Amino acid sequence: MSTAGFNSQNGTGTGQAYVNGPSQNPVGLQQLPGVSYGMTHQPTYNPMQAKAPAPPVTGLYPSGPYQPVHPVSSYQPGQSLLTRPLIGGPPSHTPPQSASPGPRLPPAQTTPPPSAVSSSSYYPNPRQPQPMAPAWHYNTAPPPMGQPTSMSIPPHGPVPNHVNPAASSTPSSAPYSSAPPAHVSHSVTQPPGPGMPPTSLHGYTQPGPAPPPMTHMAPHTYQPSRAPYGPPPTCPPPTMKPTPPPTGTLMANATPPPPKADGTVAGNGPQAPNSYNHVDNKMAGLPQPGPPGRHLGHYPSLPPGYQNTSALHNAGPPMHPAMQAATQPYTQPPQTYQQPPGGPGPAQLSPSLAALSLQSSTPEALRVVNLLQERNLLPPSPMPAPTPCLPQDLQKINCNPEVFRSTLTSIPQTQSLLNKAKMPLGLLLHPFKDLSLPVVTSSTIVRCRSCRTYINPFVSFLDQRRWKCNLCYRVNDVPEEFMYNPVSRSYGEPHKRPEVQNATIEFIAPSEYMLRPPQPAVYLFILDVSHNAVETGYLNVFCQSLLDNINALPGDSRTKVGFITFDSTIHFYNLQEGLSQPQMLIVSDIEDIFLPTPDSLLVNLNECKELVQDLLTSLPNLFEKTMETQSALGSALQAAFKLLSPTGGRMSIFQTQLPNLGVGALQSREDPNQRASAKDIQHLSPATDFYKKLALDCSGQQVAVDLFLLSSQYCDLASLGCISRYSAGSVYYYPSYHHQHNPAQVECFQKDLKRYLTRKIGFEAVMRIRCTKGLSIHTFHGNFFVRSTDLLSLPNVNPDAGFAVQMSIEENLDDMQVVSFQAALLYTSSKGERRIRVHTLCLPVVNSLADIFAGADVQAITGLLACMAVDRSATASLSDARDAMTNAAIDSLTSYRQSVLTIQQPGLLAPACLRLFPLFILALLKQKAFRTGTSTRLDDRLFAMCQLKYQPLVYALLMIHPALYRVDDLTDEGALNINDRTIPQPRVLQLSVEKLSREAAFLMDAGTVMYLWIGRNCHPNFLTQVLGVPNYAAVPDNLYLLPELDTAESQRTRAFIGWLRDQRPFFPSLHVIRDESQLKPTFMQNMIEDRTESALSYYEFLLHLQQQISK
Ligand SMILES: [Zn+2]
Repeated sequence: MSTAGFNSQNGTGTGQAYVNGPSQNPVGLQQLPGVSYGMTHQPTYNPMQAKAPAPPVTGLYPSGPYQPVHPVSSYQPGQSLLTRPLIGGPPSHTPPQSASPGPRLPPAQTTPPPSAVSSSSYYPNPRQPQPMAPAWHYNTAPPPMGQPTSMSIPPHGPVPNHVNPAASSTPSSAPYSSAPPAHVSHSVTQPPGPGMPPTSLHGYTQPGPAPPPMTHMAPHTYQPSRAPYGPPPTCPPPTMKPTPPPTGTLMANATPPPPKADGTVAGNGPQAPNSYNHVDNKMAGLPQPGPPGRHLGHYPSLPPGYQNTSALHNAGPPMHPAMQAATQPYTQPPQTYQQPPGGPGPAQLSPSLAALSLQSSTPEALRVVNLLQERNLLPPSPMPAPTPCLPQDLQKINCNPEVFRSTLTSIPQTQSLLNKAKMPLGLLLHPFKDLSLPVVTSSTIVRCRSCRTYINPFVSFLDQRRWKCNLCYRVNDVPEEFMYNPVSRSYGEPHKRPEVQNATIEFIAPSEYMLRPPQPAVYLFILDVSHNAVETGYLNVFCQSLLDNINALPGDSRTKVGFITFDSTIHFYNLQEGLSQPQMLIVSDIEDIFLPTPDSLLVNLNECKELVQDLLTSLPNLFEKTMETQSALGSALQAAFKLLSPTGGRMSIFQTQLPNLGVGALQSREDPNQRASAKDIQHLSPATDFYKKLALDCSGQQVAVDLFLLSSQYCDLASLGCISRYSAGSVYYYPSYHHQHNPAQVECFQKDLKRYLTRKIGFEAVMRIRCTKGLSIHTFHGNFFVRSTDLLSLPNVNPDAGFAVQMSIEENLDDMQVVSFQAALLYTSSKGERRIRVHTLCLPVVNSLADIFAGADVQAITGLLACMAVDRSATASLSDARDAMTNAAIDSLTSYRQSVLTIQQPGLLAPACLRLFPLFILALLKQKAFRTGTSTRLDDRLFAMCQLKYQPLVYALLMIHPALYRVDDLTDEGALNINDRTIPQPRVLQLSVEKLSREAAFLMDAGTVMYLWIGRNCHPNFLTQVLGVPNYAAVPDNLYLLPELDTAESQRTRAFIGWLRDQRPFFPSLHVIRDESQLKPTFMQNMIEDRTESALSYYEFLLHLQQQISK
C-alpha cells in the first residue's frame, strides 16, 4: 500500500467504515478524535489540531496595521486608489509599484514548430513494466493553519467601525427538529428536456426579502393530503398498529453499530491496489494474491430466480464462433424458478426471469472487427451507454447510465478473471445531476441493519415482513410504516413503495439525521482587484452578474454573503444592517491576517441586500485607477477561511495572476521553450502544499473553494488548483481573458457565472459508495477529500461534478448472479433541509472472458483511464501515463485475441464494443492534457487534466474525441422536434481532414469549445443565409456569434448549436474559423486521425498496436 495515491485511503484500517454514514452530522465528525482525514500514512497531520479557537467576541480589535476607512461610496469613481489611507500599514512590505503593466494580450505563439519525432521514439518501451509510482508524499507535519494569533493580540484601541456583536448574531435557524409532513412526491428539480435553464433548480424563486416557506414544493404529489403513514383512507389494513416510535432503526441511524467484519462492503482486504500500478500490474499479468476464502454459509445465495436459467440463446440463429463463447454462461442447465412467497414485485424476481432475456446487443458487441480494414467505425450519432445484460424487469428500473455507469457492464466473477481481461474496473458517477426524481419524506428511512444500505429496487422480499439486503444479504425486518404504500394508498405492499421502484430517489431526512441545525447557505466572494485584474475588466462582469442574479442565489431567509477584495493588502467590507453605506476595512498586515469586524463581514442577504447592491455597484469603479500589481492571494484565502469557519459555506475566488506576495506566493515555473517538448513535461505537481493544506482545513470546516482563473499569463494552476481539488470545489479557467480583446471569453464567463450563481448547491455533504460484498472500492477521482475507505467529504456538491472510482474483486462472486452498487449523497439543501440522494446500480456477474468483453463500455473505460493517467502524470511522469494508456489498448486487445477469439485471423482484431478503443486512446494521447511535441501552455494542460477528472463522463468524452458535423447542408430529415423547435441531426464524421471539403462548412464540438470551420469555397448560400456575409473574404476575424437571420438555414444552424449547448451545464464558446484564423491550428490539432509532425496517424497507431500484439 505504499504506493497509495495521494487521495486514496485504502487499507486505512480505521475501523470506521460506517461511522460516517449519513446518520452522522458533520459537526460530530469534526469532533471525532480518530478521524484521520484519510491521511493515515501521515499520522502527524490532523487538521483538527489546527482549528482556531473561537475568537473572543469583544468590542475591541487589534488595531495594528488595520485601518478603517471611509464608506465605500465615499470613493469617487475615478479617484485614484493610491489615496486609500494605508495609515496603519507599514509601507515597507508593500512597496509602491511603479511599473504599470499594460493591457495583457494573448502571448504570441513564438514557440518554434515542434520537431518531427520518429514514431519509434514515441513509445519507447511500451511493454516495459511500469515502475512503481511513488506516493505523493505529504510528509511535512504541517504547522497549525490559520492560527488566529492576531486575535489574541491585546486590543490596542477602539475601532470606530465596530458594530455591536449582539446586533449581528447568527440569524435564528430555521426549524429543523420536526420532520415535515410526510409526503411522497415527484419533485421536478429540473424541468425535463434538453435545456438546463440556469434558474433556480429548486423550482422556486426568491421574491425578495420574504422567502417562500421552506416546505418542499412538489408539482406532482402522489398523495397531497395523506396522513403520515397511518392507515389508508379507503382500505384500512386488517390489523393496523400504531406507528412505532422511531427507535430501533433510527437510533441505529444515529449511532450505527460497528461494522461486522463480514458485512463490510469495502473492507481492508489484502488487495486494495491503487491507481495505475494496480492496473498496470494486472495488465502485466503480475500474480495477484488470491481471494480470501468465502464463507458461503454466511451469505446464502440469491433467490432461485436470480440463477441463470435460460437456454434461450440456443434457439437463436447460428452464431459466429466468437460469439459462442459469449453464450456459455447462458447455456447452463435451466434451474427451476420458485415464486417467492411475497408475491411479485420489481424488487422480487418475477417469473420473467426464468425466461432470462438476453440482450440482443451481446452478439453485436462481440462481432469481430478488423480495425485495419474497417474505416467507418464511428456511429452516426453520439453513442448510448451499453445496456447491462440483465433481465428486462431489472434493467427497466436500473439506474440511469448518465448518473451511474460501470466500465464493465458485466462484472467478472473473480479478480483473476478481471486480470485476464486486462480492462480497468470502475464506476463513473454524476451523482448530483439535475434530474427529475422522486422525493420521499418519511419518518423511517429503511436501511440494512448490518451494512446500512438503503432499501432499493434490487433487494428481495422474503415475505411481506422481511427483506434481504442485496449488498450483504442480511435479512431485515420491514418496518410497520413501510407496509403502507403512499403511491397506491394501499397497505401490505412494501415492494411497491417508491423506494423499491426507483433506482434513484431522494429522502428528506428526519431529525434523527441531524445533530445541529443544517447550515445556512453562505457565499463569500474573494476578488482580485490588482492592476492586472482591473485591466482584464472582469470585475464589471462579475458585479453585474451578481446584481442580476442576486435574487436567484439558492438559499432561504438565513442566506449570508460577504466580500473580500485583495491586491497587496486585504480589504474587507462591513455590510452590517443599519449602515448607510458599505464600509471598506483594509488590513495590510498580510503576514498575520485577522478579521477586523468578524460579525459584520458576513451578513444576512435579505436584511442587507441594499448594502450588498451598493457595494456591487461601486466596486468596479473603486479600483479603476489602481497601480497595485501585487497579489496576496494566500492571505486573502486565510482571511476567508477564518470568516467561513464557523458556518461552512462556499468561497468563490477570482484570480488574475500568479500570487506573488505573502503566504502561498508562487514563482513562474513555466519555460515557454519547453511547451512543445516531446520529452517529459515538468511542473505538473504543485510547487507548494500551502493550497492543499488550506483546502483540507476548509474541508474540515465544510467550506468549499471554487477558483475562477482569468489570466493571460502563467498562474501555476498545478498549485492553485489544489485549493479546489481537495475542498470539493470547481475550477474555471479563462486564459487570455480580456473584456475588449476576447469577447468570446467574456460571453463564456458571463454564461458560466450565471449558471454558477444560480445552480443547485448542496452543503456539508458526504458521499458513500457501497457495493456488494466481495467487491472493493479504491482510488477515487474527482474533487473531494477521502475521509475513510469509502466516504468522500464534499463541503459543497454541485450538479456539474463528476466522480470516478476504481474497484477490485476481493472475494470470488461464485454464487452471485448480480451485484449492486449504491451511492448515497447526504447533503444540506440551500433551503436548510437535510437530504439523502441514493442511486443504486445493478449489474450481472459473469464467469467467461467473452462475457466480460461483451459488456465492456468503451466510453467509460476511456473516461476512467483518463483519470488514472492524470494521476499517473503527477505521481510518475507524463511519458509513463502515455505508455500506460497505450498499453491498456494493447493488453486488452491481446487478451481478446488470445482468450476470446476461437478462430485466429490476420489483422488487428477487436470486439465491436471495443472497436473505438484504439481511437479513443490515440485521442487521449493527442489531448491537450497528455500530448507532447505540440506547443501547450502548462496551465492549459493542467486545466485539461482538471477537467478530465472532474467533468461527468459525457462531457469529458467530447473533450477527448470531439464530434465533427457538416453543417452547410442541414436538413429537417431525421430532425428532432423539441418544444416546437426543429433540431437537425447531421451525422458524426471522422476527425480527419479527408472529411473536410472546401465547398462546405463544418462544426466541431469539443465540449467546452466549438469551432465552425468555413471552407474557402463554401457555398455562398451558407455565407449569406447563415453568416450574413456576401463572400468568404468578408467573414470577420474573431466571429463568435452567429447573426440571428430570418432564414431557414440560419434557424437550423442556430437550433443545432443551441441544442448542443443546452445539453451541458457550461457554455461552450463558438469560434468561426477560416484558413487565416489564429485558431485554425487548434482546430486542425483535433483532427485526431491524421498524422502530425509529432504524432502518429490513426492508421499508424493501429499498425503499432498490431505490432505489439503479435509479439
Ligand atoms: Zn446489508
